Amino acid sequence: MDEQFDDPLRGSVQPVDGAGDCAGPTGTAEEADAAVRAAHSALADWSAVPVVERARVMFKFREILIRRFEELARSVTREHGKTLAEARASVQRGLEVVEFACSVPTMIMGSSLANIARNVDSETTRHPVGVCVGITPFNFPAMVPMWMFPIAITCGNTFVLKPSERVPMSANLLGEMMIEAGCPAGVFNIVHGDKVVVDALLTHPLVKAISFVGSTAVAQYVYETGTRHGKRVQSAGGAKNHLIVMPDADLEQAAAAVQASAFGCAGERCMAGSVAVPVGKIAQPLVERLSEIGRRMRTGPTDTGADVDMGPLITRQHQQRVAGYLDVARGEGATVALDGREIPAAQSDGFFVGPSVVDHVKPGSRMWKEEIFGPVLSVVRVADIDEALNIGRSSEYGNGASIFTKSGWAAREFKLKFNAGMIGINVGVPAPMAWFPFTGWNKSFFGDLHIQGTEAVHFYTQQKTVMTRWFESADESHHDPVWKTR
Ligand code: NAD
Repeated sequence: MDEQFDDPLRGSVQPVDGAGDCAGPTGTAEEADAAVRAAHSALADWSAVPVVERARVMFKFREILIRRFEELARSVTREHGKTLAEARASVQRGLEVVEFACSVPTMIMGSSLANIARNVDSETTRHPVGVCVGITPFNFPAMVPMWMFPIAITCGNTFVLKPSERVPMSANLLGEMMIEAGCPAGVFNIVHGDKVVVDALLTHPLVKAISFVGSTAVAQYVYETGTRHGKRVQSAGGAKNHLIVMPDADLEQAAAAVQASAFGCAGERCMAGSVAVPVGKIAQPLVERLSEIGRRMRTGPTDTGADVDMGPLITRQHQQRVAGYLDVARGEGATVALDGREIPAAQSDGFFVGPSVVDHVKPGSRMWKEEIFGPVLSVVRVADIDEALNIGRSSEYGNGASIFTKSGWAAREFKLKFNAGMIGINVGVPAPMAWFPFTGWNKSFFGDLHIQGTEAVHFYTQQKTVMTRWFESADESHHDPVWKTR
């Protein structure tokens, strides 16, 4: 919540003021190098620790995370601004990834085939890849780092985390907890900073794998730079997620789900439903209901104990950008049914924009295609499900999409044909749980193996295939030590 962190391209400038306790030091390329070297020095010992012992560190980390859950959730609220309930939910999601990581011993088991040729057996085993890097966005200060390092470290890798410079505190808490869990020095490292540090990590010869989550332009840059330097990269980008509301949907249930999806975490979620697509006659009642619910939502500071439904945006610059889209909407001939600039909190010092609903948005317009990353819901009215599917086909993103309907046929058509990687049926935010991969499509993801789930275990390990043949000697009983002891 500090406007001095607005421009990640500004280089290594030391923050001086602002939110104060939310400010962190901006690292240098030399510090990034030192972090990678520390990780590299710890690699041989850590990868030789039996996987069940590595998992025990993660079990311990889980215990500490549960004990310090509230402290971490409050840190997320303080530096990001989301409500405490939202912060708790995000820490819970991170905790589930840690629980998933505790079962890495089962998940890195290899496969074998006996007698693949006469007297020949074959087996495949999984091994760590080496020093791994995680680069994370501002919107989930604890959860997104936990998508990465628990799995990478339990697989036997060492890790360097570069958190968003806008939310440095929660990452440090996670570091403290890992030390308390008995993670040896050098296994988990944190280096704060911006593009300077990111570039040093992307090009470092000792780094083997990079996990990135952030905006599409940077995700593509990280993917291209990292792969050009010989690293495996998984890079998750931005989104514009569609919520299709069929005429047969239950209006109240659908409106509640669309509202929570569009305005939860002030719209600063890669899985936020930012485009509602009502089909046919449900459009008018849906827009009216969403405007009504949005108008009743309380927006204000989330760290004062006041009972609010929605907090501020991350920076002044972002607040102005999000609010500016309401002018873009008018310029494009859309109708602003609910204007989030008119709420009382918008007159305060905080970076507030209230829930906003923009009706009659046209496919192809900026309101339809650009990621706003704030509480602004665009509504595109369509006549039938085919029109809705076509809209999905022309979106450059492809993270999530949901349908609200009572029809199994419509749900099935949507599930099979909509152009996005994470699908919800009567679910507003179809973000997969830890056991499933986060399968963004199109410009929402660059790479092959996704974050989370067994794909993450595969990303953080490399396979070795061994073929073995033993010859039976003429007089086996003289040579075989088992026989000799008889
Ligand atoms: P961002 O791209 O600005 O920053 C992400 C990370 O990249 C930060 O650590 C930042 O320091 C670094 N960075 C920023 N600019 C850089 C540059 N030019 N060169 C190198 N590194 C750079 O993203 P953000 O604003 O922090 O986060 C919001 C974005 O993240 C949204 O687009 C959102 O959709 C996306 N996101 C995606 C997912 C997903 O799973 N697909 C999840 C969460 C957030």
